[in-house]
Amino acid sequence: MKELILGVNGFIGSHLSERILQGTDWEVYGKDLGFDKIAHIPPSSRFHYVEGDISINREWVEYHIKKCDVVLPLVAIATPKTYIENPLGVFELDFEENLRIIRQCVKYRRRVVFPSTSEVYGMCGDKDFDEYGSHLVMGPVNKQRWIYACSKQLLDRVIWAYGSRGELDFTLIRPFNWIGPRLDSLETAKEGSSRVVTQFIASLVYQEPIVLVDGGRQRRSFTYITDGINALMSILFNKDKAASGKIFNIGNPANNCSIEELARKLLTMFKQHPSHRNDKVYSPIIIKGSGEFYGDGYQDIYNRVPSILNAKKALGWEPTVGLDEALRRTLDSFLSEMDNHRAAACA
Ligand code: UDP
Repeated sequence: MKELILGVNGFIGSHLSERILQGTDWEVYGKDLGFDKIAHIPPSSRFHYVEGDISINREWVEYHIKKCDVVLPLVAIATPKTYIENPLGVFELDFEENLRIIRQCVKYRRRVVFPSTSEVYGMCGDKDFDEYGSHLVMGPVNKQRWIYACSKQLLDRVIWAYGSRGELDFTLIRPFNWIGPRLDSLETAKEGSSRVVTQFIASLVYQEPIVLVDGGRQRRSFTYITDGINALMSILFNKDKAASGKIFNIGNPANNCSIEELARKLLTMFKQHPSHRNDKVYSPIIIKGSGEFYGDGYQDIYNRVPSILNAKKALGWEPTVGLDEALRRTLDSFLSEMDNHRAAACA
């Protein structure tokens, strides 16, 4: 089977490519702006990487949609700070560029596995979010944070509509705060534009304050990347078409925790880590208002818990990595990457 992964050097793309090359005889055709997150993958005649921008290299993209069996359009801006700083950039990339790709999947009758997002549920008050029952609740237009959820939601609806006309074989996945090695980078975290786990790890490493936005009582269900990739692999195998025409929440409801608890756990783990247990100072935990941290266009989601009954029933999938283990593995990977960089700089 031939997989086309657009955004192959992203967090999900890099882990998925690694797993496909290790565990199957499939071929991966990948495109991205860089290759730092896939540089460690051993060379393989089944891994075809081409550097480039999907919004510029359109002929390459169309040719490969035609050539491959399954398309994974993983290119998107997915960091809340950017939704507020560059909402039109989010719309152009996450919606417009991806719409073109979806239409080409329809034209060439290719299967698409599309990353929707847990963010589409927005401020839904349900105790856990159901793919077919929960309402998708967004704030007003001046709260620009919602442009991401809105772009993704509209694409979900377009994909669903093509599917319901029998013109597109699709699966929509909704990742709930996936974390793990290579989630963003400590460099982007320096500018404050990473997702929360990388942001906190960067603060610890650079001995900057860990910031709890609005006090840190908001909650997320953090999901370890290998669990997410297990679900994606069953979706790609698509035994008996169990994943076709479906939406799946891919998250770990057992790992629901507040952002304050998250900060405390990471600080404790960092203090116990062999490379840092003798540090003289550690980051303080402070509180900042969301207006100051993100700007006026921000609005938060207070709780986000997936129902995973559909994934369990159709795919036989369940997450297995608990929160502490997921955080420890993520922290360790960033710290050993830092140690390697330092060692290389000293050599
Ligand atoms: N957050 C925080 N401090 C930070 C970064 C994020 O308190 O340095 C909060 C943010 O306000 C949100 C949660 O952590 O409530 C998760 O943020 P993330 O950027 O990971 O994305 P989200 O889950 O909102 O899509």
